[in-house]
Amino acid sequence: PDGPPLSLRVSRYGGGRRLLIATDVSRLHRLEQMRRDFVANVSHELRTPLTVIGGYLETLLDSDDVCASRWQQPLRRMQQQSARMLHIIEDLLMLAKLETQTERPSLRPVAVPGMLAAIAEDGIALSGEAGHRIKTEVDAELWLLGNEQELRSAFSNLTFNAVRHTPAGSHIVLRWYADERGAHMEVVDDGDGIAPHHLPRLTERFYRVDRGRDREHGGTGLGLAIVKHVVIRHGGQMRIESRVGVGSTFACDFPAPLIIGRGGRRAAAGE
Ligand code: ADP
Repeated sequence: PDGPPLSLRVSRYGGGRRLLIATDVSRLHRLEQMRRDFVANVSHELRTPLTVIGGYLETLLDSDDVCASRWQQPLRRMQQQSARMLHIIEDLLMLAKLETQTERPSLRPVAVPGMLAAIAEDGIALSGEAGHRIKTEVDAELWLLGNEQELRSAFSNLTFNAVRHTPAGSHIVLRWYADERGAHMEVVDDGDGIAPHHLPRLTERFYRVDRGRDREHGGTGLGLAIVKHVVIRHGGQMRIESRVGVGSTFACDFPAPLIIGRGGRRAAAGE
């Protein structure tokens, strides 16, 4: 167990004989680790200058003599773009962190019902004049053992996606319930839906159904990759169902042992 990581493959050759081929993959592991460190380092390096630039732009926009001039619009554009880059960097950092942490997240009782109510409010604010109808259908007694920050990030990503990728006025439901298989958080929308061939690729970094249009909606292209990592780290699975012209369901399925009752009590009888 302390030796180099090996990849094992059995090869057959004449007379029913078999050959076991062991390849030392420690170099591959090192490269993968270097790639992750690189993303984390670059993101850290870029975050500070961008924050500074964003700060100066805000000050300039606030000063009357500049704002009255023809500089206002370009400054506003620059401010939006630097905010956007910062957002991408923050998501890259979060993803790098999720990928490099091999240990399970520290699990604490999380009050998911309250969290979803707050996220629904944020979704309505994000929708603004687009007027999406967002409602929650939650089991108010159902809590989960999990990492609060990671879960909030996953559930917000799914909710904000439903707002950003469906037409104005669409209906969105945040569902939270348990059955014999575990606990389920679902974001159901009645938007345009997604063609089947895109579904397996949606959780890839920067994969978008419609490159141009989807980027315009202001996401970072990393949201679903983050959701997938968070759910896997909790021992669960992400599920995507969609039908063109009907709508989509993005779900996080958590294993039954993570289920607890309100306030952190074990849900299973007798525990
Ligand atoms: P983005 O920042 O572009 O939203 P994500 O990784 O969160 O990146 O999502 C990847 C792509 O999946 C989106 O660009 C969009 O094409 C598609 N998508 C995500 N959620 C929905 C949804 N509720 N309805 C339709 N398409 C969606």
